[in-house]
Amino acid sequence: MTETVTNWAGNITYSAKELHRPYSLGTLGALVAGSAKVRVLGSGHSFNEIAEPGAEGVLLTVAGFPPVIDVDSAARTVRVGGGVRYAELARAVYAHGLALPNMASLPHISVAGSVATGTHGSGVGNGALAAAVREVELVVADGSAVTIGRGDARFDGAVTSLGALGVVTALTLDLAPSFDVEQHVFTELPLDGLDFETFETVMASAYSVSLFTDWRGPGFGQVWLKRRVDQPLGRFPWAAPATEKMHPVPGMPAVNCTEQFGVPGPWHERLPHFRAEFTPSSGAELQSEYLLPRSYAVDALHAIDGIRETVAPVLQTCEVRTVAADDQWLSPSYGRDTVALHFTWVEDMAAVLPVVRRLEAALDDFDARPHWGKVFVVPAEVLRGRYPRLGDFRALARELDPAGKFTNAFVREILGD
Ligand SMILES: Cc1cc2nc3c(=O)[nH]c(=O)nc-3n(C[C@H](O)[C@H](O)[C@H](O)COP(=O)(O)OP(=O)(O)OC[C@H]3O[C@@H](n4cnc5c(N)ncnc54)[C@H](O)[C@@H]3O)c2cc1C
Repeated sequence: MTETVTNWAGNITYSAKELHRPYSLGTLGALVAGSAKVRVLGSGHSFNEIAEPGAEGVLLTVAGFPPVIDVDSAARTVRVGGGVRYAELARAVYAHGLALPNMASLPHISVAGSVATGTHGSGVGNGALAAAVREVELVVADGSAVTIGRGDARFDGAVTSLGALGVVTALTLDLAPSFDVEQHVFTELPLDGLDFETFETVMASAYSVSLFTDWRGPGFGQVWLKRRVDQPLGRFPWAAPATEKMHPVPGMPAVNCTEQFGVPGPWHERLPHFRAEFTPSSGAELQSEYLLPRSYAVDALHAIDGIRETVAPVLQTCEVRTVAADDQWLSPSYGRDTVALHFTWVEDMAAVLPVVRRLEAALDDFDARPHWGKVFVVPAEVLRGRYPRLGDFRALARELDPAGKFTNAFVREILGD
C-alpha cells in the first residue's frame, strides 16, 4: 500500500510510503523492534522535517490506540494516551471539574507531539505545556516499555525530547481545579514608549496575554487578555477595547475564534484562541517562532521594527507571548523566563526563507531559541550553544536508543552526532 503522508500545513511530504498504525502495545513493540529507523507522527502540526523518518525509515502513529484518558480526581492527575489531542483531553478533564494549567492557541494538536517540541501558550506564570507532565511512558528501541517520572534523573530530558527517545504511548499530567476565564480584546497598543517595565506590566495584566501585530506599523493592532474570573480585574489603560470580535489574522472570520467581550466560560473554551471545530489560524501558512530571555523583549521588538518593511510583506500576523522558565533540557524556555515571538507567514517558502534569515540575524544578539516545530535556519552549531544541557540529552538518547533508531537527520544535526 502506498499513501502520501503530509503535515497539516502541506509543506512537508514525508518520504515514508505508508503511515503505520499499530493499535496495541504488542503490535507497536514488534514494529519498533523489527525496524531499523522509526519516527512517530503526532497530529502533524509541525512545519519542518522534525518527524521525517528518512527514505528507509518507518513512520508510525499511535492515534489508533484506544484513546485513554484516565482522570484521577483525588490525585488531580490525568493519564492520557500518546495519540490523544488536547480538545478531547480538555473536555474529559473539564467534566471532572478539573483543568489543564494552560493550552496552546489551538486544541487540535496531540499532547505527545506538543510537549515533544516545547509547545506553549502564554502567561508570565505559566510554563510550557510540558511543565504539566509528571510521567512519560515510552516504547524504546528494543520494543520494551520504559516509564520515566519526576524524580528520575532522566526526567528533565524525557518530555521535550523531539521524538528522539522512543514512542510516547502515554503521559501523566498534573491538573488544577477548574476555573472560568473571560477574554477581552483591545486594539492599538503603541510600541513607541513601551519600556520594559510597562511591557512586563502589560504581559502580567491577566492569566494569559498575547500581543498581535502585522508589522505594517510600529505597534500592536490587537491585545488579547485571558483573565481568570477568580483573579482581580485590573484596568488596562494602554489600549482601547475592541468594538467588534476579532481574529488574530486580519481578514479571517472571528467566528473561528473563542468567545470574546468578557463573556465568562470554561478554561478550555477561552485559553486557546481558536475553536476546536474550525480551522485554526489562517489554514494557508507557514510559521516560525523564537524564544528569548524576557529581559530582551523590548529591544528585540525594536530590532524587528527596524526590519518591518522586510517582514510585513510575507507576514499574516506576529504574536508576542510569555512563558515561565522550566527545567526540560531541550525546552526553548529552559532556565529562563521567556518572551516568545511568533510569526505566521504566507504559504510561500521561497518568499519566506530570506525573511526568516534576515529576522534571525536581527535577533542574533538575543540568544533566541527557535521553536522546534516551526521553520528556522539557525545553524545547528549555534543552536547547540544555546542549550546548556544538550550533552545530557545526547547521553540519554544513547542510553535508551544506542543505535540511533529514533534519530533522523533533523535530530542528528541538533545533537551534533
Ligand atoms: C495552526 C497552528 C497553531 C499553532 N500554535 C502553537 C502555539 O500556540 N504554541 C506553540 O508552541 N506551538 C504552536 N504550534 C506548533 C505545534 O504546537 C507544534 O508543532 C506541535 O509539535 C504539534 O504537535 P503534533 O502532535 O502535531 O506534532 P507533530 O508535528 O506530529 O510531531 C512533532 C514532534 O513530536 C514527535 N511526536 C509526536 N507524537 C509522538 C509520540 N507519540 N511519541 C514520540 N514522539 C512523538 C514527532 O516525532 C516530532 O518529532 C501551532 C501549529 C499550528 C499548525
